[in-house]
Amino acid sequence: MERTLSIIKPDGVRKNVIGEVIKRFEGAGIHIVAMKMLKLSKEDAKRFYAVHKDRPFYDSLTDFMSSGPIVVMVLEGNDVIKKNRELMGATNYKEAAAGTIRRDFATDIEQNVVHGSDGPDTAVVEIAFFFNQLEIYS
Ligand code: UDP
Repeated sequence: MERTLSIIKPDGVRKNVIGEVIKRFEGAGIHIVAMKMLKLSKEDAKRFYAVHKDRPFYDSLTDFMSSGPIVVMVLEGNDVIKKNRELMGATNYKEAAAGTIRRDFATDIEQNVVHGSDGPDTAVVEIAFFFNQLEIYS
């Protein structure tokens, strides 16, 4: 059994597709074991995306990620890190496979609706960024 962090980004909340995204997770047999809505400050967003601090899109990305509420979730299931990344689709929605979340709802390479941890080590760090153990219900 594996866990990963999922975020419905500010554009996903604004586009009113929270339920649509959750439906896809549940439809794929993934369980939501923690969830909350919150708004990141610019500083929070910079900490969360620190790995991208030298990339040209860092300032714009962290502005965007702090522009409105987000929904953060811990997903649990077999092979859930990979499964979630498959459901999300490629970073650039134009390259994302048909039927993926980003292909269906993203409008921009930056405003691409969802975030998902990219590996087991990042999943642990990203889950701990948002949740403590008492907030996760296995
Ligand atoms: N991003 C961007 N421009 C780029 C690449 C990425 O604005 O050229 C944003 C986009 O929102 C992406 C996030 O930065 O989801 C993190 O990038 P990463 O390469 O980690 O992609 P992901 O793991 O989210 O698919």
